[in-house]
Amino acid sequence: MSKKSLPGVHVPHFKHTEECAPVRMPVPAKVEISLSQHLGAPADPTVNVGDYVKVGQKIGDSQAFMFAPIHSSVSGKVVGFGQIMNFIGMPLKTVIIETDGKQVVHESVQPPTVTNKAEFIAALKECGLVGLGGATFPAHIKFNVKDEDNIDSLILNGAECEPYLTSDYRTMIDRTEDIMDGIRAIQKYLGIKNVYIAIEDNKPKAIEKLRQAAGNDASIHVCPLEAKYPKGGEKITIFETTGRTVKEGKLPSHEGCILSNITSVATIGSYLRTGMPLVEKCLTVDGTAVAEPKNVIAPIGTYYKDIFSFCGGYKEEPKKLIAGGLMMGVTQPSDTMPVQKGNNGILALGASEIDTDPATECIRCGKCVRACPMSLMPVYIDKAYQANRIDEMRSLKPTLCLNCGCCSFSCPAKRPLTYTVQRAKFAVIAANRADAEKAKAEAEKKAAAEKK
Ligand code: SF4
Ligand code: SF4
Repeated sequence: MSKKSLPGVHVPHFKHTEECAPVRMPVPAKVEISLSQHLGAPADPTVNVGDYVKVGQKIGDSQAFMFAPIHSSVSGKVVGFGQIMNFIGMPLKTVIIETDGKQVVHESVQPPTVTNKAEFIAALKECGLVGLGGATFPAHIKFNVKDEDNIDSLILNGAECEPYLTSDYRTMIDRTEDIMDGIRAIQKYLGIKNVYIAIEDNKPKAIEKLRQAAGNDASIHVCPLEAKYPKGGEKITIFETTGRTVKEGKLPSHEGCILSNITSVATIGSYLRTGMPLVEKCLTVDGTAVAEPKNVIAPIGTYYKDIFSFCGGYKEEPKKLIAGGLMMGVTQPSDTMPVQKGNNGILALGASEIDTDPATECIRCGKCVRACPMSLMPVYIDKAYQANRIDEMRSLKPTLCLNCGCCSFSCPAKRPLTYTVQRAKFAVIAANRADAEKAKAEAEKKAAAEKK
């Protein structure tokens, strides 16, 4: 394990729910299941209005390469198709189901037959599994590495460094055997030698539980990492467990690694045993506006308002709703949004948690630079973005930004650095694309002229 700890910030942890074993909520009256809960192409519905569907039945499928199938989380009647907006305002089609409360399981839900890598990858696809840490990358593509002889390390991300969230922590405590089953299956079918389990050192119970589960297996290394946000960032976790650096524009596989969220690996373990695809999620429900914070297991497609009701409702009017953690979560327009595969928490923040101080001028303290785990210079990217100097933005490499929020968190002037670095990143990507298109058009023009 690498001894070096990368920069970051010490965030308040607010892990109020860490001792709350997840509670399965009653089946809601209605669910709304998005057909696009993964990176890639949306699924096409395979059901019609009026159809009776069962738990685990496939309701969305596609021929696209990058996608993951969608299954019903409930039994009941399809009553319509709807639409929700994703975080960049793109409309996503949904299937709306009125539940019958019986949770009848579909006949297709059977443990898969898996004896080799191809069957393992096919099983991951049928499970509908995506990266459950929020990345939502389809698991059957991530684990289908072409150069498997070069992959020697599987890294499980159990850092869960975000304030409030404890759902991965509960997976490590309550589903340890699922995790071990998932690890063994990945090792067996992909031939991976070493497994590193990354956990922040402020979670001693989880560290102990996984060490006990690993027993004498010398291939499994439980790696306590210094509790410093954002320990769960992909490149950071890889560096701090293996000492390897994933270079700009490269994937973990270029460094011989596959990195997966720990609950994703537990889901592999339970799917191979039961055949039940990904139809429910454990979410941490917290924030000062929530009456009874807890970890809740909810059918995918459950409206946030039903989950908050299950947690005793609001004890004050929420000032902000966030899907995910405080640092990297996405602000939600309302509590009528439904749970998706990538959700691991929903927060209802009260007035005391909202910072209303306005941003002031930079005082050149350099704290944002020292906090950045990617060694970027947010203060200069901010200035270059404000002045629309694209070449300067390019040279400052905002494309490496993890969107972790450490710069904004550190800034005494409360400058919205994370936002401006993201804007600079999009500006550089767009400018690079425009330059490439221009160069291609010029090359085609030159080639056509030479032909004449
Ligand atoms: S610039 Fe990006 S990677 Fe660096 S601290 Fe800010 S948000 Fe994080
Ligand atoms: S932390 Fe804020 S005030 Fe300090 S250098 Fe960065 S932008 Fe300026």
